[in-house]
Amino acid sequence: MIYLDNHATTPCDPRVAEQMMPWLVEHFGNPHSTSHEMGRQAKSAIDTSLGVIASRLGIAADSVLITSGATESNNLAIDGICRHPRQRRRHVVTSTIEHPAVLDVVARLEKDGFRVTRVPVHANDHQLAGQIDLDQLAATIDDDTALVSVHWANNEIGVIQPMESIAEIAHRSGALFHSDATQAVGRIDVDLKRVDVDLISASAHKFYGPKGVGLLTIAGGMAARRVRLKPMIVGGGQQRNLRSGTMSPANVIAMATALELAITESALVAERVSQMRSQLWNGLVQGIDGISSNGPPANPSRRLVGNLNCRLPGIEGESWMAACSDVAFSSGSACSSVDAKPSHVLTGLGLSESEARRSVRFGIGKFNTPDQIDRAIDLLVAGYQNLTR
Ligand code: PMP
Repeated sequence: MIYLDNHATTPCDPRVAEQMMPWLVEHFGNPHSTSHEMGRQAKSAIDTSLGVIASRLGIAADSVLITSGATESNNLAIDGICRHPRQRRRHVVTSTIEHPAVLDVVARLEKDGFRVTRVPVHANDHQLAGQIDLDQLAATIDDDTALVSVHWANNEIGVIQPMESIAEIAHRSGALFHSDATQAVGRIDVDLKRVDVDLISASAHKFYGPKGVGLLTIAGGMAARRVRLKPMIVGGGQQRNLRSGTMSPANVIAMATALELAITESALVAERVSQMRSQLWNGLVQGIDGISSNGPPANPSRRLVGNLNCRLPGIEGESWMAACSDVAFSSGSACSSVDAKPSHVLTGLGLSESEARRSVRFGIGKFNTPDQIDRAIDLLVAGYQNLTR
């Protein structure tokens, strides 16, 4: 199996897994039981890792909250801000192409009486394809807007959003700015000293860490605005009463290690991955007449370098996937593949439902090799030919 689905998840880097093991088996103390040495040892390891994560993101250590992943972080950020008892503002703004872990949270707020605006993105044939329409964003924000939530980079078409401009517009009216940075952290520069975002969400398994652990940063960025969050998970109050539950030293250490590796190796990885992305695209163009690309141009400031989203003439993505069972890729996003609707990201780009159904997503990662890409091209082209012959 050739794995080309690195936006859905990445394999845990063996160097990361190795760091986890002693904290699972040997040093298993509860980091919140600090009355004895084993607990204090676990707490100290967590504190060190939080420091690493925070400094890599450009914030203070007490601005990082550990969660079970980006889904929880998005829920906590959006619901937590809007449902806080002292929140007076009743308007939430997001984009049409967010992950369901944002869209479903705002939809529930809408049902509960909040006003929600979903700002469209530029169409596929526009030079800013996939980027949020900043004029429409500016026009919708007012002094009732509590929160603007726009992802940093998209999981299907890899588009990178104009973060500085969104931040400036959101803050004009005193709204907070949250960004689902799940596809960005560890892949591109996410420096909260440089970009004025109040909260970001991420999941370790997107940057070669384990699944089931993620983070939410809170107001640790440039301006350090006041963020009041209503907690979702209550109990022992372990993380400053914002998120209860025993923290896992192994997971936190793993996330810190994975983040450090991803950031220190990012330039090298980006160069390799970007070459393999061109190799894959060129191979598909040669083998499949009429194949086209969805989303922004392959420019590293506009699109995640490992992302390729393409549209086939004549056949559905699902059929192509079934015909190429030795290559792992996806139609739409893995997280919404349970429902048969065409991708809202692609229809949000202005594609028709039929075009969206004829589209697939590839995500190339650091463990792929040029030889694997060559083999994948052969399998993908042969699979396509079998279906269209
Ligand atoms: N946001 C984005 C942009 C994602 O790509 C994903 C994972 N597909 C998530 C949120 C949810 O992450 P998790 O499933 O780890 O909670």
